[in-house]
Amino acid sequence: MWRLAARVLLGTKVQPVTRRLLAGAANLQCCCWGTARRTHTGYMSAGIRKVEAPDAEHLIRVQWEDGSESCYPCVWLRDNCQCPHCFLHSAKARKLLFEDLDVDIVAKEVTLTDRRKIFITWPDEHTSEYEAEWLKKRCFSEAARAEMREDLFLPEHQYWGSDLQLPKMPFEEIMYDDESAYKWLCTLKKMGVVLLTGAAARQGELVKLGHRIGFLRLTFYGPTWQVQDKADANNVAYTTGKLCFHTDYPVLQHPPGVR
Ligand SMILES: [Zn+2]
Repeated sequence: MWRLAARVLLGTKVQPVTRRLLAGAANLQCCCWGTARRTHTGYMSAGIRKVEAPDAEHLIRVQWEDGSESCYPCVWLRDNCQCPHCFLHSAKARKLLFEDLDVDIVAKEVTLTDRRKIFITWPDEHTSEYEAEWLKKRCFSEAARAEMREDLFLPEHQYWGSDLQLPKMPFEEIMYDDESAYKWLCTLKKMGVVLLTGAAARQGELVKLGHRIGFLRLTFYGPTWQVQDKADANNVAYTTGKLCFHTDYPVLQHPPGVR
């Protein structure tokens, strides 16, 4: 969601500094907006020493009790107002419409309460409040963004060649043991290939595996494809020959897709 928002804003009249910050936010906060996944102790104990009024670039600077600093663009803060009018907490989703967001907005008044909460009054007298912990989680610093990316996107990957020791895992273990399933997915993300062994030689096993981790995606072949011998084969999967490693249509997938 934010990725789209940032793209819209990046193409309009957002100030240059804000644009750079938003570009970073677009990369790290697209799907878990408003959720608290991390348990970093720095978040839990975040106290604010001082908050400054917006500068010439419409950034609000927060000085933390641990000595660090964070800068938040006014437009980002207004866009992420947590009041019931702007945010539906039961769905953890924003309600504020793009058409109601002034990308040049500047906070009229900024105050700090008990070192734990920032209050902002906007030019139209709308008010927003932000908890210190909430702000700290969303710090735009390069280090904080790198840490968030590592947590969200599991960037670890391993290139391999002919010396590859093909990772193998028992099919049944993955089906019934959550820890094994997690290990399988992490290895698949890291290596790109995992051989599952011991699956029963009957139709339906692949569907079971798919349902173990999510929903099957339809293609024009239907939910699955049956590899079998057919006369006058119009696909190599219908011949008696061996099939090489291949990924079929996932290779054509181009995120974020259309919905
Ligand atoms: Zn609001």
